[in-house]
Amino acid sequence: MIEELQTKTEHDLLENIFQQILIISKGDCQITDETLARVHDERYFNILSGLQMLHEDLALYKKEFKAKIEAEFQLAVLKKRNEELAQFNYVASHDLQEPLRTIKLFADLLLKNNFEQLDADGKIHLQFIKESSSRMSELIQGLLNYSIVGKSNKFESVDCTQLIKVIIKDFSSIILETKPIFEIGNLPVVYGDKTHLRQVFQNLIGNALKFKKENTPIQLKISVDSSTDDHVFCFEDNGIGIEEEYLQKIFGIFQRLHSKTEFEGTGIGLALCKKIIEMHNGKIWVESNKVSGSKFFVLLPKS
Ligand code: ADP
Repeated sequence: MIEELQTKTEHDLLENIFQQILIISKGDCQITDETLARVHDERYFNILSGLQMLHEDLALYKKEFKAKIEAEFQLAVLKKRNEELAQFNYVASHDLQEPLRTIKLFADLLLKNNFEQLDADGKIHLQFIKESSSRMSELIQGLLNYSIVGKSNKFESVDCTQLIKVIIKDFSSIILETKPIFEIGNLPVVYGDKTHLRQVFQNLIGNALKFKKENTPIQLKISVDSSTDDHVFCFEDNGIGIEEEYLQKIFGIFQRLHSKTEFEGTGIGLALCKKIIEMHNGKIWVESNKVSGSKFFVLLPKS
């Protein structure tokens, strides 16, 4: 084709190049390296190799565009499924509260009016019903809290020093009992949902106070690195630590590493923290070992 090309007039050549452009725009390319090797006129060589490059760019662009559209579609589907799941979670946990309240009410009535009439086994069974319904109530409340994250957010400036002070006050009874050593650095003002951020900090501080080593005074250091585009908070404790294999798992819902007799809890706290921080376009992760304790990091974008 190219040998013929060279013998034709300028008009024919342009016509031919135009045809190539049309072919390329349809996604096909007939200009191979072999063809180019046979072109000796520099002008036509440059035009044809330019067209060949154009075709390659176009093919790449088409591939990337298709992948992008597919990814966006998957994301939209996933988002919709998540919304449906959150709605289901909310309705289910909300509706479960009602029969549970009835169970608790009648267990209380039995305890109040008929306890002495029960034999030893009956008394134990009633105690089990009471304890299990209280625990279920805590779990359902946790699920409800989890499902409402992101439903109605109020973003504002949040003074983290103030927030931490209020949270520490809320823990005053356990603080009086355990006398922890706090080291709190200069904390920034961030932009976020105050109620939700309070839940995050409260969970992290609560866990540091809860998962403590026997016979060792609790130390909790709260610091922030604001040297980049983000604020990276660090909650560092000297507690029991977490084994490497569980560092990711603990952020899943209902994931606990201990029985409730060892440490109280529902296993929702860190899952809730993760959901809240991701809603702020941030990240949460932990570094930990059984010797020195845990460092929980919370990244919040400055903007
Ligand atoms: P909960 O505290 O109700 O058990 P969380 O979701 O807050 O649930 O934590 C999940 C699990 O992660 C805990 O049960 C515990 O095993 C582990 N964990 C969390 N924080 C700490 C910590 N500071 N030190 C050691 N283990 C921790």
